[in-house]
Amino acid sequence: MAQAAEAVKTTYQGQMHLLQKEIMGKYFERLTRAAEQGDGKAVYMLISGNPVELVLAFDMIPVYPEINALQLAVKKVALPFIQKAEEMGYSMDNCAYVKADVGMFHSGRKTPFATIPLPSLILCNYVGCNVYLQWFEHLAEYSDGELYNLDIPFLHGESDEPSAADITYVVRQLEEVIEACERISGKKFDYAKLQQIVSRSAETGEMWAKIKALTKNTPSPFDAYFDSVTMMAPLYCLRGTEEGLRFFETALKEMEEKVELGMGPLPEERFRFVIEGPPPWPYLRQFRDLFSKWGAVAVASTYSTVGGLWEFGFKHDSNHPLESIAAHMLKWNLTNRSFLQRYEQIHRYVKEWHADALVIHSVKSCRLFSAGQGDMREHFTKDLGIPTLLVESDIEDPRYFSEAQMKNRIDAFFESLEHQKMLRESAQGDAR
Ligand code: SF4
Repeated sequence: MAQAAEAVKTTYQGQMHLLQKEIMGKYFERLTRAAEQGDGKAVYMLISGNPVELVLAFDMIPVYPEINALQLAVKKVALPFIQKAEEMGYSMDNCAYVKADVGMFHSGRKTPFATIPLPSLILCNYVGCNVYLQWFEHLAEYSDGELYNLDIPFLHGESDEPSAADITYVVRQLEEVIEACERISGKKFDYAKLQQIVSRSAETGEMWAKIKALTKNTPSPFDAYFDSVTMMAPLYCLRGTEEGLRFFETALKEMEEKVELGMGPLPEERFRFVIEGPPPWPYLRQFRDLFSKWGAVAVASTYSTVGGLWEFGFKHDSNHPLESIAAHMLKWNLTNRSFLQRYEQIHRYVKEWHADALVIHSVKSCRLFSAGQGDMREHFTKDLGIPTLLVESDIEDPRYFSEAQMKNRIDAFFESLEHQKMLRESAQGDAR
C-alpha cells in the first residue's frame, strides 16, 4: 500500500497525441481566419448528437461553444469570463460552460487557442439538455446569427427505439436546416457530397468503436477517460473530414500495437474502473494523477459517449444520410437517453470491460449529468454490489475543486479496494 501512495505520473505522448495537436491546431486556425478575415461562415452547434455532416456539405465551419468553454478551463483562463457573465446577471448556479462562453463572447471572443468567429447560423440541436435552448437563444440575441432550434424528441416509453414518426419529424427539420444553409452559404445542396461526408463519418465511428473495444484487454492500452478526451476533439470537430478519418486510422493502429505489446498508460494496471460524468477540466492533470498513483485505469466512460454512442452498434448510413443523422440525434448519444438506459450502459461497461469499480464524478454545473447520481451510487453499490465512489467538483469553474478533499476520498476508496483484493488473493492461495 505504501508503494501505491507514491505519485505515478503519466507522460505518454504517442503519435496520436502529436497528430491531434496538429489537426486541432489547424481547426482553431480556421476559426481565427473566419473571425479575422471573414473567411467562411460559422455555424454554432452543440456536441451531443449533432448534424455536423450537413454543415460540412455547405463548406461551413462548425463551431462548438462547449469545446471553446472547456478549452478556456483547460488553459486555466475561464474564471474571469465566468465572473464577467456573473456581473452581467448570470447566477452562480448557471452552467459554467454557458458563463465562460458568454463572458468570452463579450470580451472580444479572443482566447489563447483561437479568435472565435461570429455565427452566421446558430443551430441548436436540442438533445436532452434544456440549458442548450437558453444558451443559444442568448447567443442569438448577442449576435446577428440566425437561430434554428432542432427539436429532438426525448426517448421515452417501453422501447428505446425511436418511432418512424420520430425519425420523420427530425428529417423534416433537417430539410429546413438545408434550406437555411443554402440561403446563408449561397451554395446549392449537393446530396452526393453529403453522402460522401456521411460515409467518412461511418468509417470514423466504426474505428472509434474498435478503439473503445480494445480497452477490454488487460492491460488496457489507454485510459478510456483521460486519453479518450484526446480522441473526442477530432471526433466532434473533424468528423466527416479526411483529416478526422486519417487521425482515427493512426489512433487505431497505435492502440492495436499497444495491445500486441501488452502496453498500458501506467507501469502497472492494478485496478480497472468505469467512470461516469464529465471531467474537471481546470484540474484534469491533478485528477488523473490521483487515480494513477493507485495504478487505476479507466476502461470505459459515459462522458466519451456524449457526442455519440458508436460502441453498441450505431453506424452512419450513406445510403440514408438524413435518416441516419436523425437516428444519431435521437438514439445514439448519451444525452437523449433516460437515466435507466444510462444505468444499463454503465452496467454493461462494468461487466464486459471487466471493471473492479465505478467512479462517479458529479459536477455542480451540469444538472443533465449530476441529477440522480446519488441514486445511481445507491443502485450500483446496494443492488448490484459494485464498489462505487462519488466525488464532486465542477466541469469548468475552478472555485469548486478541492484537491485535498478529492484526494482523501479517492485514497480511502482505493485503500479499501486494495484490502479486499488482498483478502481475495489470500483466500485463493489458501484454497490452493
Ligand atoms: S448543463 Fe451540462 S449538458 Fe447542459 S450545457 Fe451545461 S455542461 Fe452541457
